[in-house]
Amino acid sequence: MKVDSLSLEVVPPVSCEDCGLCCVGIGSPVLLYQSQPHAQGPHPCRPEGLPVELIEEIDDRFLGLARGQEPQAQCLWYDAEMKRCRHYEWRPQICRDYELGGTACLLRRQQE
Ligand code: SF4
Ligand code: SF4
Repeated sequence: MKVDSLSLEVVPPVSCEDCGLCCVGIGSPVLLYQSQPHAQGPHPCRPEGLPVELIEEIDDRFLGLARGQEPQAQCLWYDAEMKRCRHYEWRPQICRDYELGGTACLLRRQQE
């Protein structure tokens, strides 16, 4: 894949191992799972079965904040030492939509 005027070949990553760049500098997408005490009906974002201890952690940190008001440095669930999501199986849809080797992924890696 050609990415700039020098026509350097960039090999797309084949896994997220030892990267984690898309989990830093974007706040905490998991804020979307915070409780909505006054809302009626099912939660619009929270997956069914999300463990209560994860909900409590999110509420402790973010309850009442809108997306963008939380600390932006890294996601609440990001393990900086291991460079990976602590609860990958429960990651929000926005994280699932972020394509490994996609345009945003390649640009993010180029910025480092
Ligand atoms: S999707 Fe791309 S930027 Fe995000 S962790 Fe995986 S390799 Fe890194
Ligand atoms: S929920 Fe997981 S995959 Fe999504 S930004 Fe946070 S640490 Fe990364």
